[in-house]
Amino acid sequence: MLGSIKGLKVTLATMMRKPVTAQYPIPSKRLDIEKRFMGFPALLWDDSNSEPYCTGCMVCVRECPTQCMSATMTDNDKFSEEKSTRKKIIESFEINLSRCIVCGICVDVCNFDAIEMSHEHELSKFQRNANRANLESLLDMGKAFQAKIGWKPVQVKNIGDPVLREKLQAEAKAKLDAKMEDSS
Ligand code: SF4
Ligand code: SF4
Repeated sequence: MLGSIKGLKVTLATMMRKPVTAQYPIPSKRLDIEKRFMGFPALLWDDSNSEPYCTGCMVCVRECPTQCMSATMTDNDKFSEEKSTRKKIIESFEINLSRCIVCGICVDVCNFDAIEMSHEHELSKFQRNANRANLESLLDMGKAFQAKIGWKPVQVKNIGDPVLREKLQAEAKAKLDAKMEDSS
């Protein structure tokens, strides 16, 4: 008898609670994506001087375990005009997303804060290898991701605007000097 009452209590509590499931893919009924979610890799945009962070150094291309990336670099005209800290810049980039295993190795090996695992994950196609993202679409994915999470580069040295970079480096140095003085 007592067991039946306990069971009924659980049934009633379950009937009264809010639904815990989502009605995918209805946009208004989806669950929020966590900040740490790893979707497909995307290239990031440097707003400080309106160019990509990617220099086309090829490190990620070499390290990708499924060899689904390709890239070419070119000389950066803005560097010769002293408007950018990047001597070289990405010219073309392609990721075959059908072959990407979303491992994040390309992000880990990049020295320029140029690539991140975005929140993009709904890019399925009917044909094998039809899901190739070029430079433009990778940058679009990156811009959307940056705006969504308020992304900032980890290393000040990677900021493209020479004046801003110098200012931020001087601020960081002043902070460090003040800390050293306090601790001595
Ligand atoms: S994303 Fe990073 S590692 Fe890959 S080519 Fe660009 S700068 Fe180099
Ligand atoms: S996430 Fe992994 S498989 Fe996908 S492009 Fe980057 S290194 Fe290659």
